Amino acid sequence: MKSKVLLIYTGGTIGMMQDAKSGQLKPFDFKHLTNQIPELNKFDIDLTSLSFNKPIDSSDMQPAIWTELVKIIETNYNKVDGFVILHGSDTMSFTASALSFMLENLGKPIILTGSQLPIGTIRTDGKENLITAIEIAAAKEKGKSIISEVCIYFEYKLYRGNRTHKYNAEHFNAFQSANYPVLAEAGVYIKYNYSAIKKPGVRKLKTHSVLNPNIAILKLFPGITPGVVNAFLEIKNIKAIILETFGSGNASTQQWFIDAIKKAIKKDIIILNITQCNAGAVVQGKYATSSELKKAGVISGSDSTTETAVTKLMFLLGSYESKKEIEKLLQTDLRGEITL
Ligand code: ASP
Repeated sequence: MKSKVLLIYTGGTIGMMQDAKSGQLKPFDFKHLTNQIPELNKFDIDLTSLSFNKPIDSSDMQPAIWTELVKIIETNYNKVDGFVILHGSDTMSFTASALSFMLENLGKPIILTGSQLPIGTIRTDGKENLITAIEIAAAKEKGKSIISEVCIYFEYKLYRGNRTHKYNAEHFNAFQSANYPVLAEAGVYIKYNYSAIKKPGVRKLKTHSVLNPNIAILKLFPGITPGVVNAFLEIKNIKAIILETFGSGNASTQQWFIDAIKKAIKKDIIILNITQCNAGAVVQGKYATSSELKKAGVISGSDSTTETAVTKLMFLLGSYESKKEIEKLLQTDLRGEITL
């Protein structure tokens, strides 16, 4: 039996062609995908594709579009073995993280990929990314998909989506997963790192489509003023603030700062502590400079990426009423997104 893969084009550089006359980049017609990439004909895979009516640059990504993607996946879930989502690289880690929370008990691969250069250009990285992403989405062992989680495939590496961060705007190797090993590496063979791959959900797929975007990110820096911190805490309808702290979760011990944080927590605003560092985790209480935060009721985000902190909060605030429950789940590993 041939594996079936649904390719969803949301936009981004990968799906662009250079117009021969004007030299301008424009999205190509996905109905003629195999004309553009004849290599796809050689696959023993049943490939269907679907394109957004209006492909977007991923900097225009919105929670409503994540909901739309979840609907497409849900509708086609029983018809195909896996999904490949073509997406601009700029916010790909946010989308991969969001989808990981919105798709509970996932049992099939969802592979996001894109490229730094359009597929129609000579030195494109898009062809390899697309071809291998499809191969991974179709890959089975003993009749079962090897991957059953939301991933990003980019430049020969397969990553757990909610562990990734776009760290380079120019290199083909644009993503990193500093706190979790790669799930597979593609060379002559695709070598899967079986011990790092998530087990498939045992229960039926459950989708979540309500996201609450009333959150903010407050990145600390030496010299930050009370005016800036208080302005964040006064934002109308704000439900949670991600505090991007120094090192292993440290912040200033100045009294005005601690008082501001305490005041916010009293107002039922959730404060989630994640580190500004690319790798490593928040350990509140390791230094005196984070003990105060812990005492005030700040929640540790462990080794969460910013992308995961943002989308996990939107998901939890959209799904749960109780602040206590949300705070508990923030400190629970739901989809392999944090190390406990
Ligand atoms: N700005 C583009 C986007 O994210 C870049 C890319 O496609 O990688 O949509």
